[in-house]
Amino acid sequence: MALDVLLINPPDQKSKYKKYLNIRIPPLGILYIAAVLEENGISVEVMDCAADDTTYADIRERVERTRPFIVGITSTTPLINEALKSAEAVKMAGDPYIVLGGPHATFLHHEILTENTAIDFIIKGEGEYAFSELYRILRSGGDPGTIEGLVFRSEGVIQENPDREVCVDLNTLPYPARHLLPKENYRIFDVNMPIATVICSRGCPMRCSFCASSAIHGRTIRKRSPEDVIEEIRHIRDTLGISMIAFMDDTFTLMPGWVETFCNLLIEEDLHIEWGCTARVDRIDSDLIRLMKRAGCETLFIGVESGDQEILDRIKKGTKIDQIKTVFSTARDFGMRTIASIALGLPGETKETAKKSIAFVKKLHASYALFSVATPYPGTEFYNNVRENGNLPQNWSNFDLFSPVVGTLSLTLEDIRDIQKKAYREFYLRPLYILETLKKEGRPFFHTMKVLISP
Ligand code: SF4
Repeated sequence: MALDVLLINPPDQKSKYKKYLNIRIPPLGILYIAAVLEENGISVEVMDCAADDTTYADIRERVERTRPFIVGITSTTPLINEALKSAEAVKMAGDPYIVLGGPHATFLHHEILTENTAIDFIIKGEGEYAFSELYRILRSGGDPGTIEGLVFRSEGVIQENPDREVCVDLNTLPYPARHLLPKENYRIFDVNMPIATVICSRGCPMRCSFCASSAIHGRTIRKRSPEDVIEEIRHIRDTLGISMIAFMDDTFTLMPGWVETFCNLLIEEDLHIEWGCTARVDRIDSDLIRLMKRAGCETLFIGVESGDQEILDRIKKGTKIDQIKTVFSTARDFGMRTIASIALGLPGETKETAKKSIAFVKKLHASYALFSVATPYPGTEFYNNVRENGNLPQNWSNFDLFSPVVGTLSLTLEDIRDIQKKAYREFYLRPLYILETLKKEGRPFFHTMKVLISP
């Protein structure tokens, strides 16, 4: 029997995060859509080509074999070309409707539909309910003009339907359909344990100029109940045997009161999981860090961005250098692993400020540092400014956080590339750091260090 829906995360042969850090995490957006489809009795399969290294030929073969009615493809900015090539592979193998979703398609829907006839529909923003509705309407021969959040071609003209309200009560969403993908495929660094990803919230009220989160999910934060998240963790542990969780919220600690309730519940339930999350330094203090550690939190991923206060203010990060220092030192005191994320080449960056950031991160004694390059993703204030100034590059495949795509007033792309290399070498090639970290982390650290310093 023919399949109703095939969902595809496109091939990704070039991701430096995958290559260097061995980061392979399940595509949660797709798995949420799959869960809602299953809940509605619609048959669905998922191909995560990025994780299992499947190719366009594999996509063709799967489409020929399963003959899906609709194929959904997700698109991020650095992988938009791969998403479009996937669509072409699908069209070569059959004639299903092709739907594109994800952040890149959300913001550049008009341009994509104009230039790519293989794409029939684009779903903007959160896609769970729009996708199910689209399936139902297409099966019944109804009018897609009634589906909120949909953009499509109608008699050669692009029709953009009104935006869809976001799903307000996240507790009503089913758990992501993790059973559709092999758990063995997912890892972070070289840690030899399968990992599951979980999301507890959507939306962010902050205004960081480089971030598109609120443009996709809105400025109001929507949280699941701590009880619902605990049940999902129990479900993951009992059905998949996974006890390592990465919380993928843009900022897990945005509501410290929620985190406190969640941690107390986790301790009470005694689930024995190890977990990591993102944190904002102005939304976490030593009491909360202590409690999180007691509840099994081993890793904090912190968006430091810069060691220069003026740059932090300019990008509207809303954090202070002193807060960053305090949180790193407290987390270290409690024995937590910390990952500092820095963006080099932000607006206003000079050789001096970049040097200051590198020195600052070394002093933080972070367990790991990720030196990305500032990237103006569609949907951000940064993108709008770059576009207004007429400096917008169109080589989307370079928007991978490792390849500089825009310079600053005083730094060229080449300068930023050199600074990034220097940052990795300076941070990772400190003898004392190597000794301490090898003792704590063992071989996985060695692999990560080796690849990071030779990009
Ligand atoms: S970077 Fe984090 S805190 Fe800032 S806007 Fe994005 S999600 Fe919110």
